[in-house]
Amino acid sequence: MSFSSMGLAADLVTVLSELGYEIPTPVQVETIPAILAGHDVMAGAQTGTGKTAAFALPILNQLKAQKLSDKAQMEPVNKEVKSVRALILTPTRELALQVHQSFVKYGKLSGLDSAIVYGGVSIDAQSDVLKAGVDILVATPGRLLDHLRRGSLTLNQLAFLVFDEADRMLDMGFKDEIDAILKQVPKQRQTLLFSATFDDAVFGLSKALLKEPKLIEV
Ligand code: AMP
Repeated sequence: MSFSSMGLAADLVTVLSELGYEIPTPVQVETIPAILAGHDVMAGAQTGTGKTAAFALPILNQLKAQKLSDKAQMEPVNKEVKSVRALILTPTRELALQVHQSFVKYGKLSGLDSAIVYGGVSIDAQSDVLKAGVDILVATPGRLLDHLRRGSLTLNQLAFLVFDEADRMLDMGFKDEIDAILKQVPKQRQTLLFSATFDDAVFGLSKALLKEPKLIEV
């Protein structure tokens, strides 16, 4: 199995070979084709398995294809308030930074804009970035909610919603924030949930959020 045979576009495959990624990891082999085919995914994967690329690569692929087709049709998606198209929720700032770095690295030829927001730092500079419009946003739940309440961004055209380390997010008590965020995302979207462990709380969340998910355990 190679990255190009899984259906990723040539520019992404180029970036991956520059990075020295020759062979997809097991979680990537399972997850990338499922996401490209439009499925929701629930994946059990620890850090170090290549799980970030497993969701970042197909998201970049699909958003870029969408952007090119919007351009071809001369129909820019609502110029005034640009909605975030992919939202990745992470439990901690450290993980958010890592995930954002991955999107920047893999997406360097994509022409897509990504941003990161987390708490504990000034909110105004983050608001300015969001108001300028971003395609991909990596966020911790509390700070994202602050931004939604301020109106710095809209999620009404969100295509991808990702929960990274869902178990940790619930353990850290983010359920109320998650519920509030979910009220603002469209029903028609792809949802991807990654978790190292699966307990009742994670199953409860996935049951409420995922539609006929592909279950991936590596
Ligand atoms: P993650 O599990 O997402 O934290 O990724 C673990 C590490 O594996 C990161 O440093 C990635 O850059 C690297 N990585 C991910 N996928 C591949 C791959 N297919 N080939 C080589 N390295 C990879």
